Amino acid sequence: MNQFDGIKRALEDARKVGVVGHIMPDGDCISSVLSAGLGLEKLGKEVRMIVDYEIPWYYYEFDAVERIHRAGALQNWDPDVILVLDASSPDRVGDVEEFLEKALVLVVDHHATNHAFGDFNWVDTKFGATAQMVLKLNKALGVLYDPELALYNFIGIATDTGFFRYANSDVQVFEDAAELVRLGANPNVVASTILENKKLEQLGLFCEVVHGLKIECDGLLAYSAIPWNAFEKRGLSESDAAGFVGEMRAIRGVEVAVLFSESKEGEIHVSMRSKKWFDLTETAVHFGGGGHPRAAGFTVKAGEASLAEVVESTVQYLKIRLTQRG
Ligand code: 5GP
Ligand code: MN
Repeated sequence: MNQFDGIKRALEDARKVGVVGHIMPDGDCISSVLSAGLGLEKLGKEVRMIVDYEIPWYYYEFDAVERIHRAGALQNWDPDVILVLDASSPDRVGDVEEFLEKALVLVVDHHATNHAFGDFNWVDTKFGATAQMVLKLNKALGVLYDPELALYNFIGIATDTGFFRYANSDVQVFEDAAELVRLGANPNVVASTILENKKLEQLGLFCEVVHGLKIECDGLLAYSAIPWNAFEKRGLSESDAAGFVGEMRAIRGVEVAVLFSESKEGEIHVSMRSKKWFDLTETAVHFGGGGHPRAAGFTVKAGEASLAEVVESTVQYLKIRLTQRG
């Protein structure tokens, strides 16, 4: 039995399903969890949707996001199956990790860096978004779409393709998006909620990022760092910097952009983007993270290194590789 059929069969047979996304959730993660979770509910399954991390505030404008809980919701519940979406390794599911041993684990993901940590692993990098894989799975399971489900499913396709701009925006992306629009998804609602909903403080923070921007390697590398106090003094957190690294990549001549963010606890998240040819997955994996060729990242635990040290080692590593090719 192939992986897709194994996952479909396991979901058909299951009664209680935990549907799980990854920490530092993005639009594809939230969309995939909601689409799979609500889809399975339509099939009569008992479902709990889990993302073991704070969800960016603007996503709460989509009503069903309130139904997503932390890992504690799996306690004393004993799901038959845990469906893990858009997460490349077990450390990406937060405290859900401890529940993975007790249920059949089904992994659906589009990251080349996926560790295939499930009992069944449907991992396919040709999909621009995991939300497209959920659409395919829902259709195979016979889920009937209403406009609300179509909108939730559309979110992930829109966000993971940079609203249909990135290199992963292929024919299948447009076909899946068109199908969801036909089923009632409103692209303008999704775009305005996610893109045109900025707090003024976020623009202030972006000014600081631009002010601290460094350009090296003959203009190929752009990077900037946000220390915790820059978030704190504006009442912001890391998810409020979403999109900044994309703006840095947009600079003419830049091939690789890197944004370093420090959390309140001192954890450093490194968010990387490339434009045309630099494959970031190798760098991300080298530092213990993962991702895609044009968007990847890694996280350095609090206390392991300072912000300045992480900047130094990452920039040094990238400079060598950019110079080799550039
Ligand atoms: P972002 O830069 O938006 O946080 O993430 C870009 C891509 O890199 C996403 O596909 C995300 O899954 C991956 N990524 C980011 N941070 C990490 C990390 O700490 N670990 C792993 N495995 N992947 C990451
Ligand atoms: Mn994704």
